[in-house]
Amino acid sequence: MSVTAAGVCHTDLHIREGGYDLGHGRKLEFSKRGIALPLVMGHETVGEVVAAGPDVGTLDRGKKYVVYPWIGCGTCAICASGQEQLCMKPQFLGMHVDGGYATQIRVPHPKYLHEIGDIPPENAAPLACSGLTAYAALKKVEGTLKDHALLVIGAGGLGLMCAQLLQALGAKAPVFVDIDPVKRASALAAGACAAVDPRAADAVAQIHAAAGEAPLAAIDFVGAEATAGLGFDALGKGGTYVIVGLFGGAAPWALPLIAVRALTIRGSYTGSPGEFAELMQLARNGAIKPIPTTCYKLDEAEDVLNSLAGGKIVGRAILAGV
Ligand SMILES: [Zn+2]
Ligand SMILES: [Zn+2]
Repeated sequence: MSVTAAGVCHTDLHIREGGYDLGHGRKLEFSKRGIALPLVMGHETVGEVVAAGPDVGTLDRGKKYVVYPWIGCGTCAICASGQEQLCMKPQFLGMHVDGGYATQIRVPHPKYLHEIGDIPPENAAPLACSGLTAYAALKKVEGTLKDHALLVIGAGGLGLMCAQLLQALGAKAPVFVDIDPVKRASALAAGACAAVDPRAADAVAQIHAAAGEAPLAAIDFVGAEATAGLGFDALGKGGTYVIVGLFGGAAPWALPLIAVRALTIRGSYTGSPGEFAELMQLARNGAIKPIPTTCYKLDEAEDVLNSLAGGKIVGRAILAGV
């Protein structure tokens, strides 16, 4: 495929650095997890088909497609169950095999292509990562969303995408937590019923008051020790805490409380091919408002990554028109 738009994601910074901070002075090294550099990064790709193998069948060359990048081996039981993103032999585009920071990208099967319809390419590209990540996290607490306010930690790009998806799903207005007053304001503008400063001494009480109860579900888009501590404290009995963010650090919880309060703590990492198909259906129906994006040229990729590392990118950076 020729690449029309390639989203620049925070994960790309971790790939560039070679790993994650695991807390207690430990680091997860990607080189030991099958991610070998050098590599063409880019897992949020929109493009057009320029050539296809003989078994592909008919593919419309004039249409633009967003690529599902979380590709597995395709033969194991996990892949067969529809959870390719959890395959033990991942072939993720832009992580294990070359991705979209390029003029062209190779995709192993047409089933990974989803038409973008009327969605601008720069808005469709981030759906493959941030959109899908937010959607799959929500699906894990789907049963609570209509009648109970979700606690959302972090009002960055993922959090705001989550707020939009909640509206698209007809969910109750969520309670947001963020240390940044500007981000709290954007959460309120995106439909949150309250946005709480986690550094307030009574932050847990504020969350409970806004939700009208101790929340039954929380999604943590930050994934730091401080956020995980606050979210855990705020959660109601029998509640589910979904960790998405990869800020880093170690778990701060007292183990007996997990049992006594019957809590579920689970992770969510990207989403399945089926969830992406559902998300793209919502998006093509116009249920998802575009997040702000800024387009750059392909040869600015290194500068864009440096700006992202320095926190200087507003909205989503896209390498476009490459
Ligand atoms: Zn990403
Ligand atoms: Zn597999």
